Amino acid sequence: MANFTDIIGQKMIVDHMKSVIEKDQVSHAYIISGERYAGKEFIANVFAMALLCEEEGVEPCNECHSCKQALGRNNPDIIYLTHEKPNVISVDDIREQVSGTISVKPYAAKRKIYIISEAEKMNNNAQNALLKTLEEPPEYAVIIILTTNVDALLPTILSRCVVLNMKPVEDSLVKEFLMKYVQVPDYKAEVCAAFARGNIGKAKILASSEEFDKIKTEAIALLKHIDEMNINDISKTIKQMNEYKLEINDFLDILAIWYRDALMFKATADANNLIFRDEIRFIKQTASRSTYEGLEIILKALDKAKSRLSANVSFDLTMELLLLTIKENSNL
Ligand SMILES: [Zn+2]
Repeated sequence: MANFTDIIGQKMIVDHMKSVIEKDQVSHAYIISGERYAGKEFIANVFAMALLCEEEGVEPCNECHSCKQALGRNNPDIIYLTHEKPNVISVDDIREQVSGTISVKPYAAKRKIYIISEAEKMNNNAQNALLKTLEEPPEYAVIIILTTNVDALLPTILSRCVVLNMKPVEDSLVKEFLMKYVQVPDYKAEVCAAFARGNIGKAKILASSEEFDKIKTEAIALLKHIDEMNINDISKTIKQMNEYKLEINDFLDILAIWYRDALMFKATADANNLIFRDEIRFIKQTASRSTYEGLEIILKALDKAKSRLSANVSFDLTMELLLLTIKENSNL
């Protein structure tokens, strides 16, 4: 099943889509912009299904021949652009699959939909070829362009499309979704929602990832012992951390959530709003061993470590500075 009601959050996009269908004011070109994993494809699919559905109404019926074909991803009037080279969509891809086929009328529906995923991978020639199609699309054509980065698209393309920007989904909705569809317990859903920062697909990946659990366990183990560690222990820890260098941002996010919890607890003495509620004993300890100022310094150091790593400063050096700052500020 795929309905507008299955799209979590994104009210503005959903309202827009339903209203253009209702008023029969569908444009020829849309851009859906959103983070990787945020669910752009799912939204595009629901929209395409609704546009082609044989039944009356705004929601796709999920029952008619067209809807069933769309659900099986074999509706001949929905064309998904594919590309052989993983990092580029070439002019040939656009010519063969879009410009070259768009003049062929739809098979069964009154519309023909093109879905172009990862549009930021179109090189300049490909974009120019697509632009020609966007300048004079046939009456029945609807082109849905999906991208993580609208800035990678030519302004001339943007100006011919209705741009729909995805917004971060509220944590409470993400949590509810994870509990219902990924069947994770309340506490885990909350941690994953806090991490995913409104990205529903990322939340789902985190909730079903063993790697994430492992990183979380190690981060918390480190936090519990850092004030007793000497410089040798810290060097050893950094060596171990090299193992999950790729996920280091997740690791740093876990530390940041921990210290934000500690700060919150120090200020309110209330455990109910904490993300790491189940670690309350240790959060209490962290809060009592640091000053407000110390906790602020640690949170700033975490941000700084992230920007250093993204600027390619040495991993070992960055982590050493970070862990020493944490240690220094974890003991009144
Ligand atoms: Zn239908």
